[in-house]
Amino acid sequence: MEFFIVSLFFGLIFAVICAMIANAKNRNELPWFFAGFFFGIVAFGAACFASKRPFRLNKAESKRCQHCQSMIDIYATHCSYCTQQVAALEPEAVAVTA
Ligand SMILES: [Zn+2]
Repeated sequence: MEFFIVSLFFGLIFAVICAMIANAKNRNELPWFFAGFFFGIVAFGAACFASKRPFRLNKAESKRCQHCQSMIDIYATHCSYCTQQVAALEPEAVAVTA
């Protein structure tokens, strides 16, 4: 019983730490929370080595860079991946073409 409580305790600690790292790296917290809970230190290591994303995008707020085809922020004037200049789109124009 004691072992169960201790492993639950450490599972939750790793879960919260992994979720915080995921959040800091603009990644989805929920899968990292569960990964941290079930895999503990292994998920923690994976979270530390996971690359940081430039920013989190949802589909309605993103457009495709015409140079490298990466999804970037809809208001961006420069691509965050290839640093090329991209056409600044008005939100209304995007809503029609998307
Ligand atoms: Zn680009």
